[in-house]
Amino acid sequence: MTVYTDPILAAPALTDQINQAKRILILTHINPDGDAIGSLLSVWHVLKTMGKEVIPLASSPLPGYTTWLPGAEQIQVYRAGMSLPEVDLVVMVDTATLGRVGRIYDEHVHELTTLPIVIVDHHVTNEGAGTVNLIDPAAASTCELLCELFQAMGITIDADLATCLLMGITTDTQSFQTSATTATSMRVAADLLDLGADQLRVVREVYFALPASSAELIGQALAEMRRDGPIAWARVTLAMMRDTGAEDEAVDEVVRMLQRVSGVRALVVFKERQDGTTKISLRSVQPINVALLATYWGGGGHAQAAGATLNMSPEQAEHEVLPRLQELVW
Ligand code: 5GP
Ligand code: MN
Repeated sequence: MTVYTDPILAAPALTDQINQAKRILILTHINPDGDAIGSLLSVWHVLKTMGKEVIPLASSPLPGYTTWLPGAEQIQVYRAGMSLPEVDLVVMVDTATLGRVGRIYDEHVHELTTLPIVIVDHHVTNEGAGTVNLIDPAAASTCELLCELFQAMGITIDADLATCLLMGITTDTQSFQTSATTATSMRVAADLLDLGADQLRVVREVYFALPASSAELIGQALAEMRRDGPIAWARVTLAMMRDTGAEDEAVDEVVRMLQRVSGVRALVVFKERQDGTTKISLRSVQPINVALLATYWGGGGHAQAAGATLNMSPEQAEHEVLPRLQELVW
């Protein structure tokens, strides 16, 4: 196992792993976001150009704002009981742990752990379990890191590839607003615009195509927002999801709205799940580190954006999480 943080140093080893493979499976995390799908698709584009047979497999359906991306129609969505395609290499992007690929992992642990795995990621909680790992927690998105990697590998970035990469950079930085955003994020994005990335389409799909059901869900969740000084929290129940018909991606919008409330330094959204568990989404401002807190419940993520799943109802999860968050913030 080798863990690189610098794409220039990682490029030869990664190229070598890819050259040894014929059929390659690309995976990303469950409930994929723009960075997950942008990364999955950009790796797909590159490996195809390198003459490989490539299978991009998502653990759950794509968020609506990514389905128009070049190549998105090639992505297969895993369903319970599906067999793992026969491959000789796995590339896992934007995913902190193997377990985060969800059912694919649960149902194929053995096959997955015997295959060589290349990991490219930017989660601080990624322990680098792959055969070759490129993990840079300083990168604001996996797409930013991939862009630097492709440049180091001498790959020609065409307009389609540039668009996929820009999607991940745009969503993970929330258009260059997160504390993880750096001058490099902006330089990489500028390079992508020069290469023909369809920035207007990315912006339109991400920010100006909110499903009406999401707007209704945001309304219901925010109506019951709670506040204790610098901490805000909200609940998204199964009833709200049913009522509004909103998709999972709508929950991200609730999170973003809470982040915008003046004086909020840390927040948590409790999402009730069908299986009786509760997913928490944590956000904070510097220097409050919620990644560390999330690991307490077996989750992880970034210093200012993390999550976990708790095996209890939202009510119980509130009792469990809020005191610890208060302790961290106060
Ligand atoms: P979100 O709250 O948007 O689901 O996640 C915020 C960040 O934390 C993302 O980078 C996501 O990958 C990470 N994250 C969310 N849930 C989990 C989890 O259960 N385990 C780990 N390791 N990371 C998570
Ligand atoms: Mn990401």
